[in-house]
Amino acid sequence: MDCPGCNKPMIDGQVFNGLLKCHWDCQEVVREKMGERNADDLIQLRINARLLQEGIDHNHRLFSQLGGKVL
Ligand SMILES: [Zn+2]
Repeated sequence: MDCPGCNKPMIDGQVFNGLLKCHWDCQEVVREKMGERNADDLIQLRINARLLQEGIDHNHRLFSQLGGKVL
């Protein structure tokens, strides 16, 4: 998988932003390319998806406490 910031492969051992799925050092570039708002929404969607994997949807009482937010 290539980093959306620098278009170079993401290799094991490098440090990544797991929610933006890019190199840690490329976060700012990715945010700029994508737009701040879109980047935030994407991150939120991925957080929500992770919670859902654990069986926590927006009706769960811990949803917002664990970082979930309905977009
Ligand atoms: Zn990169």
